[in-house]
Amino acid sequence: MTVLDAVVVGSGPNGLAAAVTLARAGLSVQVLEAEDVPGGGARTLDLGLADGVVHDICSAVHPMAVASPFLRAFDLPARGVDLLQPEVAYANPLDGGRAALAYRSLDRTAAALGVDGPAWRALLGPLVDDPDGLLAVALGDHRGVPRQLGTAVAFGLRLLELGSAAWGARFRDDEAAALLAGVGAHAITRMPSPSAAGTALLLAPLAHAGGWPVPRGGSGAIVGALLADLQAHGGSVLTGTRVDRARDLPAARAYLFDTSPRTAVRVLGQRLANRVARGLIAFPRSRGAAAKVDLVLSGPVPWTHPEVALAGTVHLGGSRMQAAAAEAAVASGRHADRPMVLVSDPGVLDASRVTATGLRPFWAYAHVPAGSSVDVTQAVIAQVERFAPGFRDLVVASRCVPAAELDHHNANLVAGDISGGAVSVYRMLARPRLAWDPYALVAPQGRAAGYWLCSSSTPPGPGVHGLSGWYAARRALKDGFDLPAPSLSPWD
Ligand SMILES: Cc1cc2nc3c(=O)[nH]c(=O)nc-3n(C[C@H](O)[C@H](O)[C@H](O)COP(=O)(O)OP(=O)(O)OC[C@H]3O[C@@H](n4cnc5c(N)ncnc54)[C@H](O)[C@@H]3O)c2cc1C
Repeated sequence: MTVLDAVVVGSGPNGLAAAVTLARAGLSVQVLEAEDVPGGGARTLDLGLADGVVHDICSAVHPMAVASPFLRAFDLPARGVDLLQPEVAYANPLDGGRAALAYRSLDRTAAALGVDGPAWRALLGPLVDDPDGLLAVALGDHRGVPRQLGTAVAFGLRLLELGSAAWGARFRDDEAAALLAGVGAHAITRMPSPSAAGTALLLAPLAHAGGWPVPRGGSGAIVGALLADLQAHGGSVLTGTRVDRARDLPAARAYLFDTSPRTAVRVLGQRLANRVARGLIAFPRSRGAAAKVDLVLSGPVPWTHPEVALAGTVHLGGSRMQAAAAEAAVASGRHADRPMVLVSDPGVLDASRVTATGLRPFWAYAHVPAGSSVDVTQAVIAQVERFAPGFRDLVVASRCVPAAELDHHNANLVAGDISGGAVSVYRMLARPRLAWDPYALVAPQGRAAGYWLCSSSTPPGPGVHGLSGWYAARRALKDGFDLPAPSLSPWD
């Protein structure tokens, strides 16, 4: 019987990052993927809504990919992935035709925010100026104290401020407050809260550091680059292969799970120590979830504020208090009347996404309570229409995947949880359980196989960064094979 060195279950960005790392270290690697198309949360698919229009069914915008130490070393641009940078990283329209805009440039953003410009700069400047420190704090494996202590302290103080009732104290006008609330809302949780604050303090500075790019052709371009590298180093992906039980696993010395913790427990059963299994099962899901809406439009969105049209991402929650009210409803298990909606029109940047007849994809999701089976298409259209009258008339075709059905195309997205489990400050450390090594499920011993978790249910949490896969694979290489981490350079 052939024994593989390593099997990776799941081909999301973390699974592929793990597989690439292991294959580059010289191991024989096979990835087993339940779906017919690899890539998990970074797939770009033809949904059959309109000829020539493809959709990002999960992620579309990639601040984490530019920031990620793994993907930076992997060097996406050198591999032909064109990360298109919008002039406005993200925008937050407000009622009455106003809008708050986060430009790539911190200076320009501060200037546009007028009276609140100095406060915006004072809040984010120290984090923008030390991107490596910011990444060590927010995108590390959360084990150990970052070397960049000054930035860690700056982050911590701001987290305390923005995570508390003082979150609005810095700003005098609606614009800056709304801009920050829109970013914090990516945590899909109550605002103010430490988790929304931490999310804002990572994503807002990244807009001014590496940007919030959209890959030409869609997120699948990132998957394509990872797959090509995996294959070039002898690895392979078997699609349409769901792993439900231990006997579905081919013989190997190392197994890495890009799955939910509960799937790992179900598959591994008795192989897991009771204490580990209990910890994994106790890892809570997020209370907030996403319902996905993909539209085909016949033209660009007629935003009332013209500069919103320059944005790669638009946050549609209105003012800070309106966004907070919508998130509070979701956190208490209710649908908001005007939910937080996130949208992107990639055709703004990427002509390849627009057909000869002018059709283009429109990416959106709305925040809803976990497990919601509500079709939010009309709620999403109404939120866009609020800031872009006439939008409704552009909609040519639509598809909604309610939160309760997101796991039909990705088993990790149970009940519409797009974060791989609860996103709280504690759960960033104890992710998925409180342990010195959050990735190890069963440590390898002698010739016995080792098992690791490598999905976004481990540090540093959600996002297309590949870091959970990279951190877990490096541990597997060290503890299972006594091998160092390989180079990720395209030239090696
Ligand atoms: C609607 C939505 C919008 C998002 N927007 C963004 C965004 O714009 N930017 C961003 O950075 N992030 C975004 N995210 C989050 C991002 O997609 C995830 O954090 C990221 O994909 C997590 O990567 P992963 O590899 O851990 O898991 P996933 O990408 O979820 O991949 C897991 C893979 O494992 C497979 N799998 C699961 N169980 C099994 C099994 N038993 N057997 C075999 N295969 C299995 C799944 O089919 C899937 O392919 C979004 C997510 C969603 C759902």
